[in-house]
Amino acid sequence: SAAEPLLKVSALESGYGKIRVLHGIDITIAAGEVVALLGPNGAGKTTLLCAMSGLLPVNAGQVRFGGRDMTNATPRDAARAGLVHVIEGHRVFTQISVTDNLLLAGYDLPRAERAVRIDEALSFFPEIAEKRHERGGALSGGQQQMLTVAQGLVRRPRLLMLDEPSAGLSPVLVDRVLNVIGRLREQGTSVLLVEQLLEKALACADRVYALVQGAIALQASTGESDLAHRLERAYFGHE
Ligand code: ATP
Repeated sequence: SAAEPLLKVSALESGYGKIRVLHGIDITIAAGEVVALLGPNGAGKTTLLCAMSGLLPVNAGQVRFGGRDMTNATPRDAARAGLVHVIEGHRVFTQISVTDNLLLAGYDLPRAERAVRIDEALSFFPEIAEKRHERGGALSGGQQQMLTVAQGLVRRPRLLMLDEPSAGLSPVLVDRVLNVIGRLREQGTSVLLVEQLLEKALACADRVYALVQGAIALQASTGESDLAHRLERAYFGHE
């Protein structure tokens, strides 16, 4: 229906073989909304992103995206539908050029379309656009991380899922990467952001979910008062 949010995850269960990590997750994301997924180490944030993008099986429940049932879709079909996952710690190819790394991300697109998408993705990152003909390995660590985000942007996501994009970056580069999220929101792209830096996450998100021990412990708008304190309590199992 017209009222259906872009993403609607219902009663989702997932994990690794017999190890159940996620216990009945319900989340929604509207078109153009930036949502932070917070929670302690090992809570299941990465697992949730993987279950949504088809990298892990959904054992129960449903993933609806763009009005379609995408439960247990392949990663390729999820990405083609615009549900794009930038994997935590993903490495770029160091021996091929920046442009070729982006070509790989858009391997299935028509050639002309691919060129447009690559320019579009690079427009978010002038410092790597300048180095587009250099090898991936010639980029700094932070620039390589930006390149992984640019690879996601080549898919022209409707929902971009970023798993700790700031990990290992200097404070200046963290702000550079998180600024991209503001630009995506302006153009109507939704973002689901897993982030350890609480204040940074709250500053760029409209809404937050706290995942604690495989269940959603708290859901709030970032404007709500006392949120940092409520999150802290949720992390320790008091909410
Ligand atoms: P972090 O912030 O540390 O990345 P997270 O919230 O993303 O944490 P997950 O990586 O999703 O948490 O891990 C959730 C649980 O699943 C943890 O208990 C973890 O030990 C377990 N787990 C993760 N990967 C595997 C795996 N390949 N096989 C078995 N268990 C796993």
